[in-house]
Amino acid sequence: MITQITCKGLEKSYKGDGTKTIALKSTDLTFQKGEITAIIGPSGSGKSTLLSLLGTLDTPSKGQITYDGEEILSKRKSLIADFRFQEIGFIFQQFHLLPTLTALENVMTPLFSRKVPYNKLHRAKEVLEQVGLGDKDDSLPSQLSGGQQQRVAIARAIVHKPSWLLADEPTGNLDTETGERIYDLLKELNAKENCGIVFVTHDSALAAKADRIITMKDGAVISDLMGSTP
Ligand code: ADP
Ligand code: MG
Repeated sequence: MITQITCKGLEKSYKGDGTKTIALKSTDLTFQKGEITAIIGPSGSGKSTLLSLLGTLDTPSKGQITYDGEEILSKRKSLIADFRFQEIGFIFQQFHLLPTLTALENVMTPLFSRKVPYNKLHRAKEVLEQVGLGDKDDSLPSQLSGGQQQRVAIARAIVHKPSWLLADEPTGNLDTETGERIYDLLKELNAKENCGIVFVTHDSALAAKADRIITMKDGAVISDLMGSTP
């Protein structure tokens, strides 16, 4: 159970044909489990880069990330994968559901080839119910609305009981009302499971509901505000 993620001098750059893009400039940030943090900022400002780094999906060019003081990326690949399985759930704008699998099967995919101390099928049914889709076990993604597909994706992200949920524009493909309901669901998971949530959004009204708002521009954090504190 990781309770704190700390970034120190974290940087990410990409080298292309003679040019270098700095996607994330030297960044120091700390995230606490149990908090909901929104990351906002224009397209190309480094939001997805930061989120991928936080989730160990990408490696920094400079600086480091520690999880309760421990560096993970220097470990063996299988240990990094174990860490990700235990600690982190990802949600994406495009849902990324497998089209030929049912809702229930999609939710179970993270558990394939994993040893867990609970019944996988029961657990998958439980989380589908938790996201309000208890009657959609056998539906294919194509038979579900956008909002329902994102709920399946959220169920898949929490099926392995991670302590952190990282969401990259989770409401970006949904209308405002559906987006708000998805946010309410994330908020409920945060309250009930005490998981830390870091989500990227374009929607400033949604961001305003978070405990903390980080604003990025040109690869840098330009403001970092806690809740209603002025
Ligand atoms: P955001 O999510 O805020 O829209 P990104 O983190 O995706 O921004 O991208 C930040 C910058 O890094 C952009 O200029 C983008 O073009 C660049 N970038 C992101 N990923 C790559 C990559 N794999 N190769 C080269 N440049 C990249
Ligand atoms: Mg992005």
